Amino acid sequence: MPLRGGSCRLFNPMGWFQESEPEERPRLLVIGCGPAGIQIVRNLWQEFDLTLVEPKDYYEYTPGILRGLCDEQHLETLQVPLSEALAGFQLRHVRGKAWRRPFGGSLKFG
Ligand SMILES: Cc1cc2nc3c(=O)[nH]c(=O)nc-3n(C[C@H](O)[C@H](O)[C@H](O)COP(=O)(O)OP(=O)(O)OC[C@H]3O[C@@H](n4cnc5c(N)ncnc54)[C@H](O)[C@@H]3O)c2cc1C
Repeated sequence: MPLRGGSCRLFNPMGWFQESEPEERPRLLVIGCGPAGIQIVRNLWQEFDLTLVEPKDYYEYTPGILRGLCDEQHLETLQVPLSEALAGFQLRHVRGKAWRRPFGGSLKFG
């Protein structure tokens, strides 16, 4: 599936790189980098040519938010930049939202 919209960076175990040629592995699209998305990345990045669509550039530990509302310093510890949370995994990050028009149409990013 061609990817359109949003900025796209290739995440490599050595750091961020510009997008390169696609690989021969089967492609897998992961929408969202919450706990579910990050587990998919961690478990499947070696088997699939992974593309992650996530509008945020950080991972957020949502169960800690209630304490964070009462403790501003704790709130800061709940957000980890994606560059750190995804370090060591090879994938493409499209910064944007996946969306589709009602009643069909192709999936879009932006
Ligand atoms: C205050 C609070 C306390 C909680 N406490 C606990 C607890 O103690 N124990 C527990 O097990 N669970 C707890 N939970 C629930 C837990 O946080 C959720 O079950 C968990 O976050 C769900 O993970 P998820 O990856 O499915 O979705 P989410 O965490 O909702 O992540 C979804 C991700 O997808 C992205 N996204 C959304 N729409 C799009 C789109 N269209 N395109 C691209 N990306 C998109 C979002 O930016 C987000 O990063 C708590 C939740 C809250 C709010």
